[in-house]
Amino acid sequence: MRVLLVEDHRPLAEAVGDALRRAGLTVDHASTAREARDMAAVAPYTLAILDLGLPDDDGLTLLPTLRDGGRLPVIVLTARDQLSDRLAGLDGGADDYVVKPVEMPELVARCRAVLRRPGDRSATTLRLGALALDTASRSVSVDDVPVALGRREVTVLEHLMRAAGRVVSRRALDEAVYGFEDDVGPNALEAAVSRLRRALEAAGCPIPIVTVRGLGWMLPSDETR
Ligand code: CA
Repeated sequence: MRVLLVEDHRPLAEAVGDALRRAGLTVDHASTAREARDMAAVAPYTLAILDLGLPDDDGLTLLPTLRDGGRLPVIVLTARDQLSDRLAGLDGGADDYVVKPVEMPELVARCRAVLRRPGDRSATTLRLGALALDTASRSVSVDDVPVALGRREVTVLEHLMRAAGRVVSRRALDEAVYGFEDDVGPNALEAAVSRLRRALEAAGCPIPIVTVRGLGWMLPSDETR
């Protein structure tokens, strides 16, 4: 899941970015409203976190653009003494609020809660045969035996499991796994898929990651296996 973090205070943005990445999310950071608009126009986000006090615009003006008719959930960050702003933000369609100073565990919990709401597909545990992925703890198991995987491998696996039986394109995976700020080589995604495949094979996972040449990858579903 890819998050757009709009926050001009760099130390806070870095702390929030680190906390969200540790929680298994891919994070892009915008420090102005203009940057946020540009990024939201081109990248497929599942959540936005929006600071109200931005250098070039009021975050509340940006809110409807980011929400895009309710398609993208938005969590607003606001200072404790801006209660009227918080109420205005609610009218403007924010999904939740986190008051500054931000407690990282609280923010991560709010993100998970918003992403789990009805209407999206983020069930807590994804299962495919012997394979299970807990989307909250980011843990993976084969026949209930834990498999140690890196953050990106878990994200790749999550996308393949959600689309089981269908091919996931290289581009869709790339956009889900890597943010704009990630410095990745041209074969980073292939390497991540290879690591994932080796780890699952070593764990005795009976479900193969199938390479569909020129298109992408897939996990066969129960019906197609
Ligand atoms: Ca600010």
